[in-house]
Amino acid sequence: MSDITVEARLVRAAVAWLADLRERLADAVRTGRLPHAVLLLGPEGAGQAELACWLAGLLLCERDAGAACGDCVSCRLFLAGTHPDCHWVGIEADASAIRVEQIRDLAGSLETRSFRGHRKVVVIDPADSMNISSFNALLKTLEEPSENTYLLLTASRRDRLPATIRSRCSCQQLPLPTPAQAVAWLQLQQSRDGWARLLELAQGAPFLALNYASSGLEALDADMQEALGPAGKVPFDVLGLADAWRADRPEVRLAWLELWLTELLREAAWSSDGVNNNRRYRLPADGDRTIITRGYRLLDALREARGRIGGSLNVQLLFENLLVDLAEWMRSNSWRAHSNQSRT
Ligand SMILES: [Zn+2]
Repeated sequence: MSDITVEARLVRAAVAWLADLRERLADAVRTGRLPHAVLLLGPEGAGQAELACWLAGLLLCERDAGAACGDCVSCRLFLAGTHPDCHWVGIEADASAIRVEQIRDLAGSLETRSFRGHRKVVVIDPADSMNISSFNALLKTLEEPSENTYLLLTASRRDRLPATIRSRCSCQQLPLPTPAQAVAWLQLQQSRDGWARLLELAQGAPFLALNYASSGLEALDADMQEALGPAGKVPFDVLGLADAWRADRPEVRLAWLELWLTELLREAAWSSDGVNNNRRYRLPADGDRTIITRGYRLLDALREARGRIGGSLNVQLLFENLLVDLAEWMRSNSWRAHSNQSRT
């Protein structure tokens, strides 16, 4: 399945902010109304995989008591990660996407009868990391579901799923906790400073913030602030920076840039409204609108880049282009001097 144990996933799936959704899904299982394909959709790190794991356990439990009993043969097999009727399809080591062969193998194994004579469950996590051939192979399984079989798909990028897949699934949107709720939960996992910043970088998704903490994201945060903050030089060393960013967590760096630019533009909008004249950013008296418009164009480019970075994209070139545009934009306005002060 992955390096996280079933039990650890179930503990995470039990968080308070998913309670309503869990209740709705459990109710659908209890009353036999759960569609045979469910798409669990939410921002990355909102808990899709965890909830899929919880729902798989619930469907496989042979006591059908509205919650997985944890004690029947099925539950014990599931907790051990060895249930023969539970198929977990994910990205294999050294691969960047779910391969079409995995989906074909899955279709083959679904043709056999249930080993336990109960339900069969497939979890495809993350479903938005499939290519078009994999989607086409999956479509057949979705269109002709075998009896008593449930497909649970997880995704954070709705736009990466073809409409033909989405329309055949019941889509369940995962909510995010409030920042205060999330920070309180994160503190319980690990008592430390800096959760608010990590949560901000994770765009509010607590499980992603937790991953960020264990992958040393704070060092990357400092590195990015240095590149674009007081010590950074405009024009940048475009080739050097693009090379360094390409080699080390490019997706996280793009997310960081998007957040950084969003903050800048938000501040700029406030100060140009004259509402917050004492804020740290002051725009030049003329040209505000042009600068903001160009900033938003840059933000669009960043978002588009984030959507494409998982594919066969030349990441070095992508960062080079972005940095050239960013440097030009920063030179064309007076924010830089102010934003330098704000970061120190
Ligand atoms: Zn059970």
